[in-house]
Amino acid sequence: MNVLVINAGSSSLKYQLINIEAQEVLAKGICERVGSDEAFHKHGIDDNELVIDTPMKDHNDAMALVLEALTSGPNKVIDSLDEIDAVGHRVVQGGKYFSESAFIDDDVIQKIDELAELAPLHNKAALMGIYACMENMPGKPMVAVFDTSYFQTLPPKAYMYPLPYEYYDKYSLRKYGAHGTSHRYIAERAAQFLDEDLDDLKMITCHLGNGCSMTAIDHGIAIDTSMGLTPLDGLMMGTRCGAVDPAIVPFLMEHEDLSFDEVNDVMNKKSGLLGISGISNDLRSVRAASEEGDERAQLAYEMYSHSVKKYLGQYIVEMGGVDVIVLTAGVGENCDKMRRMIFSGLQPLGIVLDLEKNKARGGEREVSTDDSKVQILVIPTNEELMIALDTLDVVEHKRLNGEL
Ligand code: AMP
Repeated sequence: MNVLVINAGSSSLKYQLINIEAQEVLAKGICERVGSDEAFHKHGIDDNELVIDTPMKDHNDAMALVLEALTSGPNKVIDSLDEIDAVGHRVVQGGKYFSESAFIDDDVIQKIDELAELAPLHNKAALMGIYACMENMPGKPMVAVFDTSYFQTLPPKAYMYPLPYEYYDKYSLRKYGAHGTSHRYIAERAAQFLDEDLDDLKMITCHLGNGCSMTAIDHGIAIDTSMGLTPLDGLMMGTRCGAVDPAIVPFLMEHEDLSFDEVNDVMNKKSGLLGISGISNDLRSVRAASEEGDERAQLAYEMYSHSVKKYLGQYIVEMGGVDVIVLTAGVGENCDKMRRMIFSGLQPLGIVLDLEKNKARGGEREVSTDDSKVQILVIPTNEELMIALDTLDVVEHKRLNGEL
């Protein structure tokens, strides 16, 4: 059984073809700068990658190129499109409608479109990917997997904002969270790694990459998460500021004579590690500069780890303790120095990082000491595999019900 996983951005189309039985990526790639003269298509795995500059006027063109590369040419992996059993689409915003992944039909498409108000760039892009598949593979079963659905279990006290209630009624203004597929994947993998039942654990999952979010999972149920109505809220990130005093928005508009869009741009693209260090949103460059004595780079490092500590504290209190802390994504998986800073001084809480184990690289691993009361794990995330598994589940369920 092969599932094609599609992650469509406004000018990009990322994909993986995954064989479910072997849990193996048969092919992957990305079409970038779709719609521009500089469009190109990267296809293949590791050393076997081809990069082709090729015109693509829209996502339909991009999808046609992807399907052609999968079925013909030097890096082909299947003989025909019949070998693609289903398609799973990553969709950012599932709003109040989707607490789980959904089989894509007219009603689901209409709801994704309606929810674009809450995530304009992302949901419209996902729809372009969905339409491109319908055009190029008519009748192929497709499933939408939402970044937000994992957080539909949050209680109202966690997802409501203390604003006039009417805005919730009028606009469904509330916390939806993001990165849900990643949090769900690492939580499930962590429980398997420990050979424990997720329902028996108090867990905090930390997705620390360019985008950052943390989730409190109390006995298998997500009860709080750091991203909000949009992925701007919560932790300090690569270029996003995370939670700041909301009064800063009108202050900057007035004192810097910025429009709303310009403030939005500052907070989304010019803040975080980049804004503080003035060097880069890439932690590797910030680390190098801080080790050469750059004070702002050092400050950026300290603020990033401090931001994670704050949410650890909040979630430990919300759950009345924690059994397992799981780290993932570029920084969480790879940066031993950031892990050291995050966990320094937490021994009184029974959270003890093993400095030797912390230096190891790659794969699923425990990095806490043998006598740490709280286990600290590093689990590489795999959102595409989670999307593929969900897609298979939903499609199989339809088949069993005789609906396909
Ligand atoms: P992601 O968004 O998951 O791709 O993560 C991107 C972030 O991970 C960037 O800030 C990278 O600098 C960071 N990253 C990746 N590898 C390392 C590493 N070995 N040490 C420090 N940061 C890293």
